[in-house]
Amino acid sequence: MSNTDFVLAVEDLTVSFDGFKAIDALTLYVNRGELRVIIGPNGAGKTTLLDLICGKTRASSGSIKFKNKEMTKMQEHKIVRAGIGRKFQTPSIYENLSVFKNLEVSFPRGRSVFGALSFSCTDEVKARIQSIVEEIGLKDQLHTESGLLSHGQKQWLEIGMLLMQDPELLMLDEPIAGMSVRERELTAELLQRIAKNRSLIVIEHDMEFVKRIADKVTVMHQGKILAEGSMDKVQNDPKVIDVYLGH
Ligand code: ADP
Ligand code: MG
Repeated sequence: MSNTDFVLAVEDLTVSFDGFKAIDALTLYVNRGELRVIIGPNGAGKTTLLDLICGKTRASSGSIKFKNKEMTKMQEHKIVRAGIGRKFQTPSIYENLSVFKNLEVSFPRGRSVFGALSFSCTDEVKARIQSIVEEIGLKDQLHTESGLLSHGQKQWLEIGMLLMQDPELLMLDEPIAGMSVRERELTAELLQRIAKNRSLIVIEHDMEFVKRIADKVTVMHQGKILAEGSMDKVQNDPKVIDVYLGH
């Protein structure tokens, strides 16, 4: 099959943990430039799906193609290099370093020859950092120690660190958990800006937020897709109301 229009094509994907299928013959296509939101009850397999796509967990069977290239046997760091960035639920920034330094060490070259924390910062890197702090709304905090940022700002910094790698597909697991109302609004705007130039998969529970950002919503349940389509469509789907929205 040739899926040239899809940035991501997941087909018949299954992973078993001791016989329990956390992902069960799941098929999912994401278009280039799409902002896809995945919702579903706890334990549905949402995080596991991202683990499989980024290579943290290995599939039992099935296929994951990114830009038509098979990813299921690829090493995690090669998947990153291929253009897939993934943000975990807990932020992993260097609290004792400035915003600038955190972004600098996230530039792909920084990790190769001299190790993560020591390499000379070129004009190219500086320009990238400047455009990213503007995008994530932290340009006035460029030299602030990251540990002093608000919870929301730390999340944005981590998104910025992923953007330093210039991924074509960015995956975020519950990015607004613990954020204030204002931070949620700003995050919605940020994700919409990011999605102008790349594809995004976002796992989220907050329905107001989902409604605001999603091009298309995928509802997962028991490792399978329960429903997929516009927010309007899935919100009114009796199956979805029954297992998820009704609670
Ligand atoms: P969600 O993110 O939708 O809440 P998860 O993907 O975290 O769901 O979990 C899906 C199911 O798979 C859960 O029942 C969870 O306990 C199980 N699971 C996830 N990872 C593992 C693992 N490494 N070993 C065993 N079971 C796992
Ligand atoms: Mg999860």
